[in-house]
Amino acid sequence: MFRTLSAAALLAAASPLAAQVHRSPLVDPKVAALRDSALQDQYAWDIAEGLTTEVGPRLAGTEAEARARAWAVKKLTALGFSNVRVESFDLPVWVRGRESAEILAPFPQPLVVAALGNSGSSGPGGVSAEVVAFDSVDALKAAPDGTVRGRIVFVDHAMPANQDGSGYGQFGAPRRQGPTIASQKGAVGIVVRSIGTDRHRNPHTGAQEFSDGARPIPAGALSNPDADQLLRILKRGQPVTMKLVLESRTFAGQSGNVIAEVPGRDPSLPPVLVSGHLDSWDQGTGAVDDGAGVAIAAAAAKRIMDSGRPLRTIRIVWFGAEEVGLVGGQDYRARHGKEPHYALLESDFGADKIWKVDSKLGTERKAEAEAIGKALAPLGIVTGSFTEADGSDIGPMLADGHPGVGLGQDGTRYFDLHHTPDDTLDKIDPVQLRQNVAAWTTVLAILSGPIEEPKRPKRR
Ligand SMILES: [Zn+2]
Repeated sequence: MFRTLSAAALLAAASPLAAQVHRSPLVDPKVAALRDSALQDQYAWDIAEGLTTEVGPRLAGTEAEARARAWAVKKLTALGFSNVRVESFDLPVWVRGRESAEILAPFPQPLVVAALGNSGSSGPGGVSAEVVAFDSVDALKAAPDGTVRGRIVFVDHAMPANQDGSGYGQFGAPRRQGPTIASQKGAVGIVVRSIGTDRHRNPHTGAQEFSDGARPIPAGALSNPDADQLLRILKRGQPVTMKLVLESRTFAGQSGNVIAEVPGRDPSLPPVLVSGHLDSWDQGTGAVDDGAGVAIAAAAAKRIMDSGRPLRTIRIVWFGAEEVGLVGGQDYRARHGKEPHYALLESDFGADKIWKVDSKLGTERKAEAEAIGKALAPLGIVTGSFTEADGSDIGPMLADGHPGVGLGQDGTRYFDLHHTPDDTLDKIDPVQLRQNVAAWTTVLAILSGPIEEPKRPKRR
C-alpha cells in the first residue's frame, strides 16, 4: 500500500524520471523528491472525506463543532502526531432558526434567503415592510434616514469572480457593514445580494456584527437569482413590500483550537505553524471551507514526519470559530503570540491549485524565500511578493511581525461555493488537492530544516 512505502522507496520510484530530465541544481534533491511523491498523496483526501462525512457541518460553539474537535483529536493521534491537545475558549453562539422571504406586493412570490450570522431574530411573525434598494453600501450610507426608517433595505453589488479572490474585500461590504448602517438609519430589516459569484439559487451566509450600538435587526442574504428577481420587480416602478422571517437564537458556548506537533530535533528552535480552521458554516459540510485547509496542512506535516525527523518542530493548528470572527486565531495569539514562530502558514481558500507563493520572512531570509520559489516552480507556481503573506486566523500575528508564507490558491470558483449548502466534498478536485499538498510539503521541507532520515537495518 502506498502510504507504507518508506522515503527511500519513494526516492527510488522517482529516480527513472530523474535520469531522463535534468533538474534544477538550485533545488535540494530531497525536497524535490518529497514534492514529487506528494503528488500521489492520500492523507489530505482521507482527512477531508472523514471530517465532512463523519462530522458534517460544524458551526462554531455548537455541539457539532465539539464533535469535530473530538474527531480531530482522534484523527491526529491516529496519524502519529505528538502533543495532540485542545486549547478551549468561550464565545457567544448564534444559530439560525426558521427563515423565509416573500414578496407580498405587487407580485406575490417567495424568494430564497438565508440569515447572516448574528442576525436579529424576527420572531415567528417576521417583519413586513416596503423595500428600499441601494446599489452599494456607499449609496445606503448617503441616504437620508427618512428614506430608510421603517423599511426593509436591499443592498446590491456586482462582485466578480477573480483568481485571487480580491473581490471579497470590496464587495463584501454589504454583508459586513450593511446591517449596522441600515439599523442605525431605522430599517426594520435588511437583505443583501449574496456575497457570491454563482448563478445558483443558494444564498451565501457569513459573519456580520452589529457595531456602534446598532440594534440587531433581521439581516439576510438573497441568492443571486433572487436578487436579480427583486431588482426586476423594483424596476417596474411600483412600491414593493416584503415579508421577512429570520428566526435565530443565541447562547453562551465553547470552542477550541486543536493542536498537534511533529517534534523537531532541536526543541529550542521556534516552530513552523501550519493551519486551517476546523469550524464551518452550518449549511454545507464545510469541504472547501475549510475541510480542505485542515487536510492540506496536516497531510503535508504527516509527509514530512513519514520521511524522518525535521530540525524544527512543526505545529499543526486546526483553529476553532474562524467563521464567526477569527476567535480561534485571537485565542492562539493571546496564548502564544509572544513566543517566536519560524513561520506561519494557513490554508483557507478552498482546494483548487496553488498558483502563487508570497512570503514575509525578512530580508535576512531572502535566500530561503527564493529557494521556496525555485522548489515550487515545477508545480506551476509563480513567485510573488517577498514582503507579504496572509491568512485569516494568522493575519493578526502576521501583522504583529511574525514571519509567514502564503500559498495562493486559485479562487476563481471559490465564491461560487463559499458559505452555501453547496460547499460539499464533491467540489474538491482530488488532483488539485494533491498539488496543494505537494506545494505545502515542499515549503515545509525547506522551513522545517534538514530532515534526518530514520535509521534502517542494512539490506543484504
Ligand atoms: Zn474559511
